[in-house]
Amino acid sequence: MRRRLIVLGLTAAAVAPGRAAADLCSTGRRQSPIDIGTTRRLALPPLRPAMHPTAVRVDNDGHTVRLRFARGQVLALGRERLDLQQFHFHIPGGDRLHGEEFPLALHALHKSSAGGLVAVVVLFRIGAEHAGLATLLPQLPARGSAPRPAVDIDPLAWLPAGAGYYVYDGSLTAPPCTEGVRWLVLKQQPTLSARQWAQLQTLFPHNARTVQPLNGRTVSESP
Ligand SMILES: [Zn+2]
Repeated sequence: MRRRLIVLGLTAAAVAPGRAAADLCSTGRRQSPIDIGTTRRLALPPLRPAMHPTAVRVDNDGHTVRLRFARGQVLALGRERLDLQQFHFHIPGGDRLHGEEFPLALHALHKSSAGGLVAVVVLFRIGAEHAGLATLLPQLPARGSAPRPAVDIDPLAWLPAGAGYYVYDGSLTAPPCTEGVRWLVLKQQPTLSARQWAQLQTLFPHNARTVQPLNGRTVSESP
């Protein structure tokens, strides 16, 4: 019996990696986005952005608008250094708070000095105009048009300094839905105007993945 289990184990290990990767979107147990409800309060370090205005490459692939940053935009999280790689947008917001859905999310993807992928999520409400978006909107390429190689942006206009956050273990929200991504959802929600939201929707369609089961995961909350 023991020998048989070992053989099965070896077989599974030999076959599993490729299949598991392909199937994670449907079989993964630590998927994103989620609905954040009950949380555990922890003394987590504050987010300290050390970023500056820069030019980014922007493309519109028909699913979202993506801004790619050159190295040098850093988000400090305690002793950890997170290097900003890209911004992209989701309508509606994806991650929810106590069931509430938000009209827009900014996903700021970072590579951690420890090697992992860290996604910082800014959820928006409809209200006053967003200054960063007011600058950015006229520069965003339409669906199917050529990428813009040098669009000016100030990342600090998008990532509020000192904001508290929720954190959970999740995944990429599009295939291959790779797990092991750390998600930090900011507790502070900036606003954009209804007009700005309508303009964004002319650039890309609704593209948020539905919320995924928690499967026993704990969401932690910073002060
Ligand atoms: Zn995203």
